[in-house]
Amino acid sequence: MFAALMSGCANMQATVSESVESPANETAKETAAVKESAAETVAVEAESAEPISESAKEAVPDETETETPSMDIIPESYAYSLIVAINPTVELYFDKNDVINGVAFLNDDAVNAYKDLELVGASLEDGMELIIARAESEGYLKENGDVQVELSKIGTVEKEMDSSVIVNAVETVEAILTADNGETGISVNASVNNEVTEQTGLTAPEACPTCSGTGKSCSECGGTGIVNCKRCDNGIESCGTCHGTAVISCHGCHGAGTVGDLGETCNRCGGTGEQSCDACHGQGTFLCSWCKGELKHVCPECWGECDCPDCSGTGWK
Ligand SMILES: [Zn+2]
Ligand SMILES: [Zn+2]
Ligand SMILES: [Zn+2]
Ligand SMILES: [Zn+2]
Ligand SMILES: [Zn+2]
Repeated sequence: MFAALMSGCANMQATVSESVESPANETAKETAAVKESAAETVAVEAESAEPISESAKEAVPDETETETPSMDIIPESYAYSLIVAINPTVELYFDKNDVINGVAFLNDDAVNAYKDLELVGASLEDGMELIIARAESEGYLKENGDVQVELSKIGTVEKEMDSSVIVNAVETVEAILTADNGETGISVNASVNNEVTEQTGLTAPEACPTCSGTGKSCSECGGTGIVNCKRCDNGIESCGTCHGTAVISCHGCHGAGTVGDLGETCNRCGGTGEQSCDACHGQGTFLCSWCKGELKHVCPECWGECDCPDCSGTGWK
């Protein structure tokens, strides 16, 4: 799907009928006369099934870059390009410093949503932020939606291309989404165009199986940072002072019920020798001091901070 959306591609089979129906596909450099004659030639060829003339053949598939709408800014040289598909689908071209130096709007929604964004000259992070903010404000990106990031093309500008390029892009998008809204339920998926894989051997990074992409891992809590309470099993604990009885020996008479040499009745406890436990306010129990009655508490092994050892916390392999 993305390969098709990239359009313009050299690998796109330019058929005779397409070239006739889309004169705009041809280069602007050509004169109208040439265009007309080429189109006519092609049309005639289609009917007569004679070989297509050299001029007609060359006019069709080689002028891929100029097929795109005039809004597009396709740089002469770039290091790589990323397609960001939310539904507005846009292709961003980057120089070797991950600065956007070109943009192609791959569908009408992209033109509508993004045409006034100043993407060229922006860093990858700033560009992604602009796109996501706009997709959200225009209602394209909703809760539980998804963002597809595809490493689409490798350009001629030399840059060390390894999986960090796509991982970096995906993590940037994830960070922007969570910074804005916390947990959004929006999934971010990475892919690598087949041709890029053939060229470079790069494949889409996969979520780390150890931590399922969370980047956190802990044998105690599985990386969630939260465990079932290890102190209580019902949210309350028995008072250690009164052992759950709710009463203790009277502080006035030390349990005797009487005070002084004459054995006067203790007026604090009225002679019972007991008083309400002040540790638990006479309840015999109190809320679990570890979980405060929530039955779960922060994992004491990792405090929720444990980076997955298999992916160093990136969540990607
Ligand atoms: Zn991991
Ligand atoms: Zn833990
Ligand atoms: Zn507890
Ligand atoms: Zn008590
Ligand atoms: Zn007493």
